[in-house]
Amino acid sequence: SIVVTGATGHLGRHVVEQLLEKVPADQVTAVVRNPGKAAGLAGLGVRITTADYSVPGAFDTVFTAGDKVLLISGSEVGNDRVGQHKAVIDAAAAAGVALLAYTSAPGSLTAALADDHRGTEAVLTESGVPYVLLRNGWYHENYTENLAPVLAHGAVTHAAGAGRVSSASRADYAAAAVAVLTGEGHEGRTYELGGDAAWSFGEYAAELSRQTGRDIAEHPVSARELTGILTGAGVPEAFAVILAGVDASIAEGELVVDSGDLSRLAGRPTTPLADAVAAALKAA
Ligand code: NDP
Repeated sequence: SIVVTGATGHLGRHVVEQLLEKVPADQVTAVVRNPGKAAGLAGLGVRITTADYSVPGAFDTVFTAGDKVLLISGSEVGNDRVGQHKAVIDAAAAAGVALLAYTSAPGSLTAALADDHRGTEAVLTESGVPYVLLRNGWYHENYTENLAPVLAHGAVTHAAGAGRVSSASRADYAAAAVAVLTGEGHEGRTYELGGDAAWSFGEYAAELSRQTGRDIAEHPVSARELTGILTGAGVPEAFAVILAGVDASIAEGELVVDSGDLSRLAGRPTTPLADAVAAALKAA
């Protein structure tokens, strides 16, 4: 079977939906930690299994020899994600899965947020499990799903300088994962995944202005100032520092991924940022 963890999350949902365009539902298992969130997935006809990354032994009976697994990285930043992911990888090794693909971060990213991904990659590559590293770049949605304060203030506040981001939509990264899970010859490969086009925050502000018909400016600040703005808006200090660190990495060009791997795996161009902006404005 093809087993997808984090299936109730945004990326997981896209992966399951796109898998069902290629394989029958009875060949797909969705792993969730909260079965209360899984009704929509169950309605698609896939098998639902419950397991939490941080509950010891939870994954012991999830995998079967020959399974192809997508381990979607957890979202509990600061809660030993490497240990959480190791529990899944150890269970996959014990079961003898055919492949485990892990959603990582670009190899160029040095921000603290990448540490858990580097740690997990080390565990995986040393585990003996046939692996694929899906080094996902940034999502369009990191920006387009957080438009409310931008529209309220008429400004895109950032600490990324003139740095650019080659983001893509979650659906694009899901398409790459599905290609790996349903295709052949990916074992041992590391894919650097990013959108076909890179944009700066000034260009993002211009696109928002164009589509809203309002004057939305970029508001460049220092990483320290951004940390203060975020904590002032209620973001916990530790996470604000992490987010400001991401902008510092963007300023250094660390979130530009120009390998072409994403559109190659997806078999089509990646979604333009303008399309994601349009979708978000329509939903707002
Ligand atoms: P979501 O937060 O929507 O999904 C995260 C998924 O992980 C959810 O299904 C969540 O379960 C599950 N999860 C978290 N902790 C555990 C746990 N302890 N045990 C079992 N499952 C767990 O994120 P996305 O789908 O948008 O992104 C997927 C991952 O990619 C994120 O978790 C994060 O690691 C990373 N990411 C990447 C970004 C990028 O731009 N490339 C941006 C943001 C995150 P539940 O549904 O119950 O909460």
